Amino acid sequence: MTSAHPASTETQEQAQPRAYLNFIGGEWRPSVSGQTFDDTNPARRDEVIARFQKSTPADVDAAISAAQAAFPAWRAMPAPQRGAIILRAALLLEARQAELARDMTREMGKPLRETMGDIQTAIDFGKFVAGEGSRPEGDTVPSAIPDKMCMTIRQPLGVVGVITPWNFPMAIPAWKTFPALLAGNTVVLKPASDTPLSSAHLTEILDEAGLPKGALNFVTGSGGVLGDALVTDPRVAMISLTGSTEVGRRVAELCGRDLRRVSLELGGKNAVIVMDDANLDEAVKAVSWAGFGTTGQRCTATSRVIVHEKVADAFGRKLAEAAERLRVGDGLDTATEMGPLVNQGRVAAVHEYTEIGLGEGASLLTGGRALTEGELAGGAYYAPTVFTNVKPAMRIAQEEIFGPVVSIIPVASYEEAIQAANSTIYGLSCAIFTEDARTVFRAMRDINAGLIYVNAGTTGAEPHLPFGGVKQSGNGHRELGHKAVEEFSEIKTVFVSYPDVK
Ligand code: NAD
Repeated sequence: MTSAHPASTETQEQAQPRAYLNFIGGEWRPSVSGQTFDDTNPARRDEVIARFQKSTPADVDAAISAAQAAFPAWRAMPAPQRGAIILRAALLLEARQAELARDMTREMGKPLRETMGDIQTAIDFGKFVAGEGSRPEGDTVPSAIPDKMCMTIRQPLGVVGVITPWNFPMAIPAWKTFPALLAGNTVVLKPASDTPLSSAHLTEILDEAGLPKGALNFVTGSGGVLGDALVTDPRVAMISLTGSTEVGRRVAELCGRDLRRVSLELGGKNAVIVMDDANLDEAVKAVSWAGFGTTGQRCTATSRVIVHEKVADAFGRKLAEAAERLRVGDGLDTATEMGPLVNQGRVAAVHEYTEIGLGEGASLLTGGRALTEGELAGGAYYAPTVFTNVKPAMRIAQEEIFGPVVSIIPVASYEEAIQAANSTIYGLSCAIFTEDARTVFRAMRDINAGLIYVNAGTTGAEPHLPFGGVKQSGNGHRELGHKAVEEFSEIKTVFVSYPDVK
């Protein structure tokens, strides 16, 4: 094992930030650019927590070469042994969870209990996937022809490019990297530039767990600069990307040119439907967590609440009160319930949607402004914001805001609620609150989304269940669950003939 920061013996929070390197072919190496970029704390804009390599396409090229060179030996290792390495990595994550969570809170702002949860997801999925290495992975089937037997086997694809967003800095890189490796592929990981530190930690841990040189390569830098080099290289067999629908569309177009496999997990405009028989306090609590948790920056965040008009006023009043009670602050403070946005640029982007909502005629119940008072000065803070009297076609009800903004859409019936819920280009997650079993089953059938929650908010995943969306929230693939390994492998059908030729 080599170190990501060989020259440094400093502790984490000393003034001089560490400079992390790329990890290529089992070595931590500087970019050929000779340049770095800063990873900053959104709770305190001036605090640089680490420096990372501003890589170039030449670094990506070197990473792909290393991954390609490592592929034959890695795919030849029996899958249970590959699983054992992933299990060791999961156990190392578990042992260091608190320290990793602290770093994650410092690099992207969400409170410690959420960053602990982010890492817990990676741990749980690592343990789950490790066991998948020992499962039978194909079918044995009779042939229609005498003296013949047929079977299917699963084979790795080769080099997989993994491109990840900043909002789940450990969970999402692990969701992709673990099953890709387990299936026998080698990986080039490009994390989001707002959160490279958590991916650097994951890379170090997999290295320490015994991953052979070149099986995982880690390159940091701008997606705009590095993306094409990774996505269009003919040596890369598959791209797995989680990010915005806009970037996903571009990556899919590039992959489509040479029919490269591409798995996309993209944006959402997730709705909670609240029927007139719902337990309102339960619904308010769930929407407050799903709408304002991670400062509204989850792909599954609740950004629309479609409420029966009989209870819309009461719901709006209670949700605004809950939003105003939330403690906003530095995620390192254990009393904090909502941290900052991921960077200062996002404050202006979210505020633009407040202006758009007001311009469209929606009524602002609370929030709608940046928070700059007292200890919040210097951080990327935005008030939990609730709009009501929103119409389904308004931009604030159609576009992914990715901030703490919830829009209440009053409706007169179940049918109108479903129509509103299904009216966006997205289809990731949707929830319904009702006490009526018939309405529950109708909603399970009628809502067009990849994830449905009943009497719970729109967020939350379990490692053994598939995760993903329909319409422009993805391209039909699913992460997590045992299907996750299938995503990263190819079926081979084998026919074995054994006639007596004597
Ligand atoms: P983003 O699309 O800006 O970036 C995602 C990744 O793509 C980053 O690593 C970025 O550097 C890279 N990238 C940017 N331009 C690229 C290009 N031209 N070619 C290749 N890669 C490129 O998204 P983000 O702001 O990091 O994350 C937020 C988005 O991710 C939201 O839309 C959110 O809904 C979505 N998301 C979806 C899921 C899901 O499972 N569906 C989960 C988390 C986040």
